[in-house]
Amino acid sequence: MLLVRAMVRVRFAPSPTGYLHIGGVRTALFNWLWARKTGGRFVLRIEDTDRERSTSESVRVILDSLRWLGLTWDEGPGVGGPYGPYTQLERLSIYKDHAERLIQGGKAYRCYCTKEELDAQRAALKARDPKATFRYPGTCRNREERPGAPHVVRLKVPETGSVVYVDKVFGEVTTPNAAQQDFVLLRTDGVPLYNFGAVVDDVTMGITLVARGRDHMVNTPPQIMIYEALGHQPPQFAHLPMMLAPNGEKLSKRHGAVSVTEYRDQGYAPHAVLNYLARFGWSHGDQEVFSLDELVAAFDWEHCNRADGRFDAKKFLAINHEHLKSARLTSEGAYAAATLRFLSARGLQADEARVEHAVALIRERATTFADAADRLDFVFRDPPAMEAAAVAKFLVGENAQRLRDLAGVLEKVEPWTAAALEAATQQWLPSTGAPMKDIAQPARVALTGRAASPGLFDVMSELGRERTLARLIAGATASSA
Ligand code: GLU
Repeated sequence: MLLVRAMVRVRFAPSPTGYLHIGGVRTALFNWLWARKTGGRFVLRIEDTDRERSTSESVRVILDSLRWLGLTWDEGPGVGGPYGPYTQLERLSIYKDHAERLIQGGKAYRCYCTKEELDAQRAALKARDPKATFRYPGTCRNREERPGAPHVVRLKVPETGSVVYVDKVFGEVTTPNAAQQDFVLLRTDGVPLYNFGAVVDDVTMGITLVARGRDHMVNTPPQIMIYEALGHQPPQFAHLPMMLAPNGEKLSKRHGAVSVTEYRDQGYAPHAVLNYLARFGWSHGDQEVFSLDELVAAFDWEHCNRADGRFDAKKFLAINHEHLKSARLTSEGAYAAATLRFLSARGLQADEARVEHAVALIRERATTFADAADRLDFVFRDPPAMEAAAVAKFLVGENAQRLRDLAGVLEKVEPWTAAALEAATQQWLPSTGAPMKDIAQPARVALTGRAASPGLFDVMSELGRERTLARLIAGATASSA
């Protein structure tokens, strides 16, 4: 038998009602990884049918966030594609056609019940049994058409049987049809409800696998009913565990940063964000740190967890630190370019070559690019910003003379390297009668403005002869003030 396997087509379908939540990025990422791994297509679709809450600003933020992360889409807003438009409100005629076809085929019907009628029925039921859930009784299933009258379109839901599908993460899922009512597909204004819009789009866009958060699992059985009514084979489904806050609540703003742009602004590397999110609910042996290429190669649905996970900000930062430290994961050029943006935001001027050179001082320790810029501030600010507590503690009394003497000793050092500077200082030290730390701490504060900094002689080498001597003398002056 010849098996023709259709090309993998997956999609990410955000609703543009706010920022891009990192839980949403995890969904986008898993779809993207699958498309890249299988040579398939990653489609971006904007689900903006909630007119009140959708904004063009939100669309912009979502697109920017995905671009920053490198989750490029093969079809969708900005890039087009053969199955567009990729924004739901621009597809209303497509939903109307599909609804019409369902009505013609006897799979759906126009419902003329007014809100008042339904409210009255609901109230009557509640009066009889306060615990009962109202389900639409199918009043219009066999009613005569009333041309021109306002109506919604409802699906004729099978009264018996059940929907069965095999989820790529959760395995077989069975839901009795009796649990459904004749739900609405199209509203009176012609705007589809989520389930109908999503299915018509997934059908007309040729989507072969739908991967999304487990919170959408309740939507899958009614969506499969729509596929069946339309005469289409449903795609595969993969539901992903939820991302919870450390206290087990749904992860939201209240628990800290949840939007992608906040992590960008805090100086996270995009690939580190993706690495953390990939490991969230998916594993590959005990490997924690992955390049993007490694993720593409290793990703599979078999190793996705079913259990919800808790967001761990510390671990996220630790993964980011690993990415920043590793020359394999973050090239020197990329590191310098990212740090330069944060230095510029601090009002400092530098060029990429100088930043690249200076980064060697702090690369081991900086956990984010913002942290890197903070640690390098003294290199690019003249005079350096002085921390009051460090000044009060170290730039005092006898340190004035020590700093002046140190400047005198270093003035003649050739070549201006950390090793030569250290040797000269060590040679001079015994004549001062002071231990190294009594010289080093005031010098560190004079040179960097802080009591903690990279290695003292590396700092001197980075600053160069002129600035080192000038800062030591300025420190001496401050000490005697
Ligand atoms: N617009 C839906 C959401 O943002 C998409 C759900 C789906 O992927 O089907 O949650």
